Amino acid sequence: LLRVEDLHKSYGDETVLRGIDFELERGDVEILSGPSGSGKSTLLRCVNRLTEPDSGTIYLDGERVSGAGTDVNELRRQVGMVFQDFNLFLHLTAAENITLGLRRVKGLGKAEARERAMEHLDRVGLADQAGSYPAELSGGQKQRVGIARALAMDPKLMLFDEPTSALDPELVGEVTSVMRELADEGMTMLVVTHEMGFAREAASRMMFLDQGQIVERGPPEQLFQHPEQARTAEFLQRIT
Ligand code: ATP
Ligand code: MG
Repeated sequence: LLRVEDLHKSYGDETVLRGIDFELERGDVEILSGPSGSGKSTLLRCVNRLTEPDSGTIYLDGERVSGAGTDVNELRRQVGMVFQDFNLFLHLTAAENITLGLRRVKGLGKAEARERAMEHLDRVGLADQAGSYPAELSGGQKQRVGIARALAMDPKLMLFDEPTSALDPELVGEVTSVMRELADEGMTMLVVTHEMGFAREAASRMMFLDQGQIVERGPPEQLFQHPEQARTAEFLQRIT
């Protein structure tokens, strides 16, 4: 479903991604792990082109979606993203946060957008909070609105950048359980997280990034139990 080929990105003279290659099949749930500054967010942002890579190619469903002659908006219609700090519009209610994209990007009418927003709020257990503003919601609820907003666009691929890092520990579970359901339903997901419980239970694969390179990649149990690289072992030991 997703193919990333030889992706490079530098900021000034700091090289952040040094030749990233990987593929996701439909339904894969891949955990992207690695130390702070290793390039995880940059990689996710390159995949939906919030950041433009310096070189390399990205294919979605066999079609090239990066580089000359490609439409970044078309790509973003197909790839949903969930952010650490929610990125909700603070002056809009939960429902309005969802209808905005449906109306502007998908071109839905008011009633249809509203209906679709309610469906997705219901899916994340927040139908009763449709009229609440972000300030009236807990962190876990805000993040579930963020997930509902991305899902409402009907994406082929979902990107998650540390979706639970800003949450109090007791709120992490409500977000990871929504993510687990999504995984069970067959959504293709690329997830940056330090929640290794989620990784063990929901991930089909895990990649370990260090200094802008994929150091190791495999099933979670392999990386946890028999890491091939010392760097992987050391990092995973530190965070689990
Ligand atoms: P963390 O775990 O802390 O979120 P990360 O693996 O997501 O780290 P990135 O955010 O991708 O790492 O950053 C990789 C490197 O690129 C860092 O050294 C960072 O300072 C640098 N960087 C990221 N974004 C920019 C930017 N917009 N301008 C300049 N440098 C940047
Ligand atoms: Mg990051």
